[in-house]
Amino acid sequence: MKAGVFNGPEIVEVEEKSIPIINENEALIKVSYAGICGTDMMIYSGSHPRVKPPLIMGHEFSGQVKEIKGNETIKPGDRVTINPLISCGKCYACHIGENHICNNLNYIGIYSSGGFAEYVRVPLNNLMLLDSSISDEEGALTEPLAVAVHSLRKSSLRFGDVAVILGAGPIGMLIAMLAKKAGASHVVISDVNEYRLDLAKKLGFYTVDAREENVVEVTRELTNGIGADVVFEVAGTQSTANQMIDAIKPQGEILLVSVYKQAPQINLAQMHFREISLKTTRCFSTYDFERALHILRNKEIDVKQIISHKLSIEKFDEGFQLMKNGKESLKVLYEF
Ligand SMILES: [Zn+2]
Ligand SMILES: [Zn+2]
Repeated sequence: MKAGVFNGPEIVEVEEKSIPIINENEALIKVSYAGICGTDMMIYSGSHPRVKPPLIMGHEFSGQVKEIKGNETIKPGDRVTINPLISCGKCYACHIGENHICNNLNYIGIYSSGGFAEYVRVPLNNLMLLDSSISDEEGALTEPLAVAVHSLRKSSLRFGDVAVILGAGPIGMLIAMLAKKAGASHVVISDVNEYRLDLAKKLGFYTVDAREENVVEVTRELTNGIGADVVFEVAGTQSTANQMIDAIKPQGEILLVSVYKQAPQINLAQMHFREISLKTTRCFSTYDFERALHILRNKEIDVKQIISHKLSIEKFDEGFQLMKNGKESLKVLYEF
C-alpha cells in the first residue's frame, strides 16, 4: 500500500508499505479521506516533543471496514470515522471519565500509524459508525468539528452574545459556524490570511484583517466600547494572547483553544481588574465527538466549506507545503 511517511523535520515522503495485519479487537480500515491538522504541522516542523520519525501521521480520517476481529455489530463494508484518542485508563482523569485530559494521552497517527495511508489498523474502541447521511469527506472532518464543539460547549456563550474568534484556521472557522448557530448576534473573526478572511466573509462573519485593523478597536466599536462577551483564542501567538484580554468585556470569558509553541506572557493584572474568566480546552470528550456526528447527521452546519484541497497521496509533500505557507489553504484532505 502507499503511505505518507514523516521521515524527519520537513521531510515527508510517499513509501510502499505492507498492509497492516490486525489482532483481536482491531479493525483494518481502508481510508477514504484524511485531513492535515495543526498537530501534523507541528510534527512536520520537528517541534513535537514526543514524535520520532519514521511515522505515518494522520488522525482525522474516515474509511471503510475491510476486516474486523472481535465485534459482531460492525461489519466489513461499514463506513466509519475514527476517534483517535488513546488514553491510559489508569490516571485520575481517566478514572473520572475525562479521558481526553489523560495524563498519558495519545493519538492514533501520533502514537501509532495513522490515516495517511491506504490502510490502517485501528482498535475497535476508536471506531465510530457513519450513517448514510454523512459523507466520507464530512466523516474525516468529525475530529476537528469535535474540537470546535468542545470549546463551544465549555463556553458560556448565550443567545445575542458577541463572539470574537482570533484565528480563521479550520478550528477557528468551525467555532465561528457553531457560535453563529448557537445564537451569537455578532461573530467577529480575525486573521492575517486573505484567503481565509474572504471565506469567513462569504460565510457571513464580521472579518478583521489583522494586518491592517486592530481587532480590539473593531470589537469596541461594535459593542459601544464594552468588549466581546466571549473570545476564542485559536491562533496561539503572543499578539493574540494580548488581544484576547483587551477585546473582552468586564466579567467576559476567554476560551483558550490554541496550542502555544512558546508559552505566551499574559497580563493577569488586567484580567483581575475586570474579573475576566479564562477557560482552557483540550481536544474533545467522547460526548463531544458524538455531538459532532449528530451535527453532521442533521446538517446543522456545512463543514465541507472549510475544505480547500483534495489531493491524492502521491502529492503528500504538496499538502504540507500548502499548509506551511498557508496562503491559499484551509483544510487539506488526502483522497484515497
Ligand atoms: Zn487534529
Ligand atoms: Zn489516563
